[in-house]
Amino acid sequence: MSELRHPIGTFDVLTPDSRRWETLVGVFARVVEGAGYGLVLTPTFEDLSVFQRVGASTDIVRKEMYDFEDKGGRRIALRPEMTASVVRAYIQHRPTTPWKAWYVGSNFRYESPQAGRYREFHQVGIEAFGAVDADLDVEVIALGWEFYRALGLRRIQLLVNSLGDATCRPPYRALLLEYLEGRRDDLCDEHRERFADNPLRILDCKRPTCHAVAAEAPKQVEHLCDGCATHFARTTGGLDSLGIPWTLATDLVRGLDYYTRTTFEYAGLALQSAQNAVGGGGRYDGLVEEMGGPATPGIGFALGVERILMACDAEGTLPSPPATVDVFVVDFAGGSAARDLTAQLRSAGIRADRAFDGRSPKAQFKSADRSGARLALVVGPDEEAAGTVVVRPMAGDRQQRPVERHRVVAEVSRLLAP
Ligand code: ATP
Ligand code: MG
Repeated sequence: MSELRHPIGTFDVLTPDSRRWETLVGVFARVVEGAGYGLVLTPTFEDLSVFQRVGASTDIVRKEMYDFEDKGGRRIALRPEMTASVVRAYIQHRPTTPWKAWYVGSNFRYESPQAGRYREFHQVGIEAFGAVDADLDVEVIALGWEFYRALGLRRIQLLVNSLGDATCRPPYRALLLEYLEGRRDDLCDEHRERFADNPLRILDCKRPTCHAVAAEAPKQVEHLCDGCATHFARTTGGLDSLGIPWTLATDLVRGLDYYTRTTFEYAGLALQSAQNAVGGGGRYDGLVEEMGGPATPGIGFALGVERILMACDAEGTLPSPPATVDVFVVDFAGGSAARDLTAQLRSAGIRADRAFDGRSPKAQFKSADRSGARLALVVGPDEEAAGTVVVRPMAGDRQQRPVERHRVVAEVSRLLAP
């Protein structure tokens, strides 16, 4: 029988690598909860229509969706991103605004797997609903920036653009269409026949032919209405005021259709360029209404966990912290002491481990060494008979001494205290 393996485009994470995930999520939670964002949980799958509404003409929805019919005949999709789910939840529950939420979870896209591009991948992100204020754009962008800094990343480039709104996007779109009609022969095979439904897609096409056409295309930032121009100036001015360096990226349109005004991306400069986007986001002032809710502005970002960890590797930051316990119980008197002592220690909030299956003292001490414990508690037949435990520091001069069984938890607490 052939060996079972994880599906193509997916992966397993074991310790010690998984400890970096814990650290990353912990740092993210600290940064965003420090700014008033609260955790939101939504299902991993939704009705297909949740995602179709937000980007019917995008690759993510047209080609990459994991959708299927369930046993009840419903059209279901594994989420390819989280914003649509969070918007769906917002519309369903109507929390008071401003509503600031953060999330962590996996997403699914049927992509060609390669380094930094998987079929199941993970994101951390935030969404903020109910304010059009450009200072919220600054807050959101700055929190992403702050998070990367907190992980120790230094080579992150912030790209910013404005996509305009319902006033200035349509005339710009017409301008772009006219330009693309004239350059039709220079587009890639896919886009030559198909760009009229969403001409902005061309700006996001990664093929060199389209790229060259996009470079000379009219720019939305040069055709903003007064409202959008003021918003953009306040946003970028805010970033300047916070000392966050940013670069104007006139072709940054992002992979989903719902963005208005501010869009941004964080590029990991230490990564290979095809997969160097470590996160991105933008404003989506029309999305809630488009999905059937009350007109509510929104803005957010999603950051790719795997790519962030790749960037950390490339920059040599965020090493996986060793998994350790405080105490290891070595018991070669039958195991009852190990059973009871570990339970007592854990109840007292002390991290404790032990060996099983009556291993030899030598093997148990080896496990104690590997565990990273600062103290070993040793119980042999003599200690068992005397009702004592030998407390033995694992490092330093290893001065060991017997302690009465009923005093050992208090003694260990005292020794471990900083
Ligand atoms: P890309 O241009 O690299 O395909 P995207 O624009 O499709 O990225 P978003 O949908 O904005 O990405 O998702 C936000 C972040 O999630 C990305 O910046 C990236 O870090 C990560 N990401 C997106 N798709 C994948 C994937 N297939 N595997 C791993 N990470 C991904
Ligand atoms: Mg993509």
